[in-house]
Formats: sequence, structure tokens, C-alpha cells
Amino acid sequence: MRQLKIIILGQQGSGKGAYAQWLVDKYGYAHISTGDLLREEIKKGSELGLKVRDIVNSGGLVSDELISKVLENRLKKEKKGFILDGYPRTIAQAKILEDLLSRLKTKIDLVINLVVSDELSIERITNRRICRECGWICNIKFMPPKKPGICDKCGGELYQREDDKEEIVKKRIEEYHKQIYPVIEDYKRKGLLHDINSNRNYEEVVKDIEELLKRFT
Ligand code: AMP
Repeated sequence: MRQLKIIILGQQGSGKGAYAQWLVDKYGYAHISTGDLLREEIKKGSELGLKVRDIVNSGGLVSDELISKVLENRLKKEKKGFILDGYPRTIAQAKILEDLLSRLKTKIDLVINLVVSDELSIERITNRRICRECGWICNIKFMPPKKPGICDKCGGELYQREDDKEEIVKKRIEEYHKQIYPVIEDYKRKGLLHDINSNRNYEEVVKDIEELLKRFT
């Protein structure tokens, strides 16, 4: 199968991370998540990590300059197809990405836009828990762990991301809507945008994404 370069868009709780993971497992794409790249830096306690820690934990946006540098370093290493997750979030970032990819002599093949209601998003995100040890993700309402607070995979401690608390989630969603609208319009105009209804269950969404990708191979 042709290695595609895909952007996956969707607000917090749209299932973006899970569907990106499915694409990685099924087609061998690299998963490039700017949120994960930042969290790794924070965990390492690097200079960049210290600079962005408070912004990330409070649900604000890291400056275009910093995040674009992080992305550029990662994209330069990428030889195969990828799923870009968490970037671009603003029209300025969409422009930076276009320039960056053109310097790297490549371009985006398609944009998958996962569309979900705010109500369902908030419910999914505030119930999300992550394993401190292995990064396993579960949902205490929709996919609870066998033992409360304990990871099914490795027995590690489950925790809630600081920015997954309800007030912060609401702020992140509001910010997302404000910023993403022109990005969506831009990709629509370029004929790259494909909406997928993500208010449904996992299998139904996966089936739609699979059908969509068949058109590109
Ligand atoms: P995410 O895991 O995509 O929800 O990202 C978590 C946090 O990382 C966001 O709330 C921002 O603070 C930061 N972040 C991730 N991607 C970007 C981006 N493209 N621009 C600015 N900040 C970002």
C-alpha cells in the first residue's frame, strides 16, 4: 500500500489518538503527535520541557515558534508515511507546515476530520486515565480497568492528565473551535478534507476510515 501522509484533525475526545494508533498498527505509519513530543520533553526535564510545562498543564497553546521547531526536527527524520496528530491547530501553523513540507519536497495527501459533539468529548476526556509506567490509556466509564486505578497491561498506577480535568477540557475545546475553523476551511478549499462522524462506536469509525483510505491506494 502507498505510504500516505495524513493529518488527523479532531477536538479533544474525538478519538483522534485511538484512530491514529489503529492506522499505525494497520498500515505501519509513523504516529507524530505534537502533544506526545511535548510530554516526552516535559518528562525528560529538558530545557524545552521546562519552558512548556506550565502551558501544557494548563491547556494553553505553546508558541508557534517552539512547536514548529519540535515538529520540524521530528519530520526531518521521517522517511515513510505518517499520521500527524495535534498539528496544525491554527491557520498560521497550517502555513508553516506547508512551507516545511515543501522544503522537505513532500506534501499532505489527505486530512481526516473527526467530527464529534462537545458533550460526548467532555465525557470521554474527563473519564480518561493513563498508565504512568507504560502509557496504556483507558476510560473509567466506557472501558474501565479490571482493578480501579491499576493498569491492565503492566500493573502500573493510572492517573488523570492535568489538562484532562473538566474546566481545562472545556477551555481546550473552546480554544480548539476558535482556532481550527479557518484551518478546516483552508483544507476544504484545497480538496484535502474528509469529515468522519466520530459520535459513533470505534468499529463504525474504523470502517469509514478504511473505506476512505482505499480511495487513495
Ligand atoms: P494534545 O495531546 O494534542 O491535546 O496536546 C497537549 C498540549 O500540548 C496542548 O494542550 C498544548 O499545550 C500543546 N500542544 C500540542 N500541539 C500543539 C500545537 N500544534 N500548537 C501549540 N500547542 C500544542
